[in-house]
Amino acid sequence: ATILSLKGVTKSYRSKTGAVSHVLDGIDLDVEEGEFIAILGFSGAGKTTLISAVAGLIEPDNGTIELRGKAIDGPDKDRGLVFQSYSLFPWLTVEKNVALAVDSVHKDRSKEDRAALVRQKVQLVGLGHAMDRKPAQLSGGMRQRVAVARALAMEPEILLLDEPLSALDALTRAKLQDEIERIRKEEKRTIILVTNDVDEALLLADRVAVLTPAPAARIGKIFTVDVPR
Ligand code: ADP
Ligand code: ADP
Repeated sequence: ATILSLKGVTKSYRSKTGAVSHVLDGIDLDVEEGEFIAILGFSGAGKTTLISAVAGLIEPDNGTIELRGKAIDGPDKDRGLVFQSYSLFPWLTVEKNVALAVDSVHKDRSKEDRAALVRQKVQLVGLGHAMDRKPAQLSGGMRQRVAVARALAMEPEILLLDEPLSALDALTRAKLQDEIERIRKEEKRTIILVTNDVDEALLLADRVAVLTPAPAARIGKIFTVDVPR
């Protein structure tokens, strides 16, 4: 079944000088439940704009974005977002960083259930031993994993990953790619991954959506290809 549907989504930016750049020009995209789709494109192609619109952080100029047939209306806990910059609270431990998000979205659950959920997700990303550390005591890759654990613990229907691995060294990136694959198998969650890394897109995704960049013949369009398995 289709979980997310974009129809005719457009977005332009106006610069200070008044010049208008069309970033998204009529994006149609349906994402199936449980699908892992990668959004691929050069820097400046509009990937962050697209995923930010799905996250509800920006509003498209035109078109509709529906989650299970319902128009999205701002950010919500059904769509968990992980940015390239992981934005952890520096004065809080790994456990508290994740717990803060869990406590805010799972208010209905018992204290024990929430604590268990935090522990489970932190362990899932391989940081069980680092629960009590603060971000300054972690490597970049570890911080990124905390951000992934935090998003998973919110149990969003759709996990949105905006270049979560691009700032990492090759070895750490490969490790986290393995982890994302494992998480996908264990959690069967719908995942949208923004990347400019072709190998990464082909390694992880069921389907790759390519955003054509502004100077290309078909500005701000999207097309998708299935990844053979
Ligand atoms: P990508 O994530 O593929 O690198 P972005 O969505 O970040 O692309 O940006 C697409 C284009 O839109 C770029 O040319 C960028 O400079 C421009 N852009 C993005 N956000 C804004 C903004 N808030 N105001 C003006 N221009 C923007
Ligand atoms: P990416 O790493 O995906 O290429 P950027 O670093 O280009 O993203 O952009 C990061 C953020 O800054 C995005 O949220 C984007 O909307 C915003 N942004 C990008 N370009 C501009 C711009 N020219 N003016 C204002 N905001 C921008």
